[in-house]
Amino acid sequence: MPGIKDKVVIVTGASSGIGEATARILAAHGARVVLGARRTERLEVLAGLIRTAGGIAEYQALDVTKRSQLEDIVALAKSRFGRVDVIVNNAGVMPLSTLDRLKVDEWERMVDVNIKGVLYGIAAALPVMQAQGSGQIINVASVGGHRVVPSAAVYCATKFAVRAISDGLRQEVDNIRVTVISPGVTESELADSITDPAAKLGMETYRKIFITAEAVARTILFAIEQPADVDLSEIVVRPTASA
Ligand code: NDP
Repeated sequence: MPGIKDKVVIVTGASSGIGEATARILAAHGARVVLGARRTERLEVLAGLIRTAGGIAEYQALDVTKRSQLEDIVALAKSRFGRVDVIVNNAGVMPLSTLDRLKVDEWERMVDVNIKGVLYGIAAALPVMQAQGSGQIINVASVGGHRVVPSAAVYCATKFAVRAISDGLRQEVDNIRVTVISPGVTESELADSITDPAAKLGMETYRKIFITAEAVARTILFAIEQPADVDLSEIVVRPTASA
């Protein structure tokens, strides 16, 4: 199926920021979107807005740290629309701190959401796409998946991992497109998960120059719109002023 019209697209982390903007833009271009996140009240509002604008949207509670819930949202897409053309593994958290702060629980949360959540999304969607003979897996990494900065060692490690997993998957599967989106600083709620005061202060300065979530969403739309035989392997998108 070329283009975006009628494609069935699952978006994880669709309750705010990049995921929300992606859902809106893809639906506005004719995709049938299936939205997942933990804050279902937000998904309900978003799905309502999309439907009012003439789009097609379903939503379901999703915690990406639970493998069965990724299986459930893929099953919802299949039962409602009969197929899964794209999964955007976007859900992520970024509770930054230097390693000597020993915020081990936050390290584990980043590994669980940012790495295992992506792997569970792949595990749930890949068999469906292979049975269809086509599909696209879009994983949201970061410029932090290219370069490590202080206080972001674990976060960057998770994003290096997302790029490594995507690179391996791309080489292993035929007929399935694999795309990495690596944003720089983007307006969203991501920094709200930082509990360490020093890291929070550092990010307030670092995050003063940003692009909109819509700018990132447009790159996701662009990657999906490519012809079926074109794999847009990675897009790095960041503020002009920090390029
Ligand atoms: P937001 O905090 O605005 O959005 C994060 C989304 O992830 C929310 O919808 C949240 O939904 C969801 N989420 C978090 N934990 C879980 C979970 N356990 N299960 C399901 N969903 C979860 O941040 P962004 O939009 O910025 O983040 C989107 C992606 O972009 C992330 O992967 C992030 O690392 C990446 N990124 C962002 C950059 C930025 O500067 N903003 C730069 C580079 C990459 P809920 O809480 O309702 O579950």
